[in-house]
Order: sequence, then structure tokens, then C-alpha cells
Amino acid sequence: MLRISQRHLKVLETCPRQFEYTFCDRLTLPAPPDRQSKTQLGSDFHLLMHQRELGLPIEPILARSPQLNTWMQAMLQTAPELFTSDSQTWRQSEHVRTLEIGNYLFTAIYDLLILSADKAQIIDWKTYPLPRYKKDLDLEWQTRLYLYLLAETSDYVPKQMSFSYWFIQSTPQPKSVKIDYTLKQHRQTQLDLLAILEKLTTWLDLSRTKQETFPQVAASIGSCERCNFAIRCNRQYPDLPAPIFVSSDLSHLPAIPLISPR
Ligand code: SF4
Repeated sequence: MLRISQRHLKVLETCPRQFEYTFCDRLTLPAPPDRQSKTQLGSDFHLLMHQRELGLPIEPILARSPQLNTWMQAMLQTAPELFTSDSQTWRQSEHVRTLEIGNYLFTAIYDLLILSADKAQIIDWKTYPLPRYKKDLDLEWQTRLYLYLLAETSDYVPKQMSFSYWFIQSTPQPKSVKIDYTLKQHRQTQLDLLAILEKLTTWLDLSRTKQETFPQVAASIGSCERCNFAIRCNRQYPDLPAPIFVSSDLSHLPAIPLISPR
């Protein structure tokens, strides 16, 4: 059973070869330090929101982190309705849903899911400003997969469901983009997912049985210019430095002998 998340779908759609390098060969590039600290702050914010939903105290965390405190206060002022609940609604953060299709297990982790009798709201925190490409958010695999999984694993019909992205760092206050769902979108996502799975199954089989590599995306599309694997793929660009990859697959390393205590 192969677990498939929105990230897998996004990379697969960008380029099958990139999928192979990233998820089959598990090649990764260490993130630069400034990006690491931004990523850490983003995951701290998600943990903070999770802790709050669980009813655990968050004041000590806010007192230690001015940045998290600023974001939290901004959200409380901008969208207080997101932080109140009543007996008619069910809500859960870091909510996990899965759906099995063939040999694949589709997985979504919802930052916050709020369900009432006739409405299902998916809330997603983004700890960066509203991007300029916001018109494409409904085409993002995160949007599509999360809505699809919820519709397939609940009694809600698509028109009762929505996905709201919250961009915490937008100025002067956090901004949201709400995406409504329709039966037409749901059917299209299903067709697209099945088509992707069919191709992925073929590529995995060819890789296993004939050691064939996954196909590369056409160079004319432009994805290679932004890809860390450009040199590995012979799609070289003069100003690209050669990246040094690390493999997260440690099975090839020799066993380290045990050191006896003196
Ligand atoms: S360099 Fe181009 S072909 Fe190679 S993995 Fe990246 S996007 Fe795909």
C-alpha cells in the first residue's frame, strides 16, 4: 500500500522523474538555515493552534515567542468566529482522513475541520502572506485532494463543503481565500486521480521489472530551470550551482560496530 499525499500529487504532476528522485530514491537537499527557521516557526504555529484546540494552555508559549503571539492575536482579532464553538458543531485540529484506492492510500491532514449539521469547513493555516497567484488555489492538489477525501468519507455533499486558506502574515491583517466545492469539481478530481494512479502504477512496474526510469517533463515547460535535479537530468543551466544531495534511505550504510563500555 503506497501512501499518497497532496505533496506526492503535486510533484508527480510537475514531473514524474522528480517524483522518482524525491520519493523513490529519497534524495533531498538540506534547506538553507534561513528557510529552516521559517519552516520551524510555521510548524510551531501549527502546534500552537493544535494545542489550543486540545484545550491545553498556550500562554507560556505565547510569552516565549513574540512572533507566535503576534500571529495569534492577529487571527483572534480578524476571525474570532473561528475560535468559538457551540454544541452544534464538531471541530478537530490535525484531523487525519484516508481513502484506499487500489494499492494506494490517499491521506490528508486537516489543520482544522469544523463540521455542523449542513456545513463542512476545512481551515488551513499558511504562515506567509497571500500569494499573488491566489486565483490558482482551487487548482492546487491540497485543495482538491482535501475536499475530495472529505466528500468521499463523509455524508456531506460537495455544495456543503468549503476550503479556506488563512494567510497569517498578510498585512495589515491576515487574509483568507475561501474555495467552495461543486459536484462537477468532485467528479473531475476523481477522474484526474484515477488517471494519475494509472500512470504511476505503470511507471512503478516498469521501474521494478525493467529498471526503467520515470519520464522527464518536457524542457520547454520550464520546470527544469527551478528544479534541484537539473544537473542530474542533464538539463543544465549555467548559473545553477551543483547541489549536494543527501539520501534519507540509510539501508545501504554498513552496520556500525558496537563500542563496549570500559
Ligand atoms: S530537471 Fe526537469 S526533468 Fe529532471 S527532475 Fe527536474 S523537472 Fe524533472
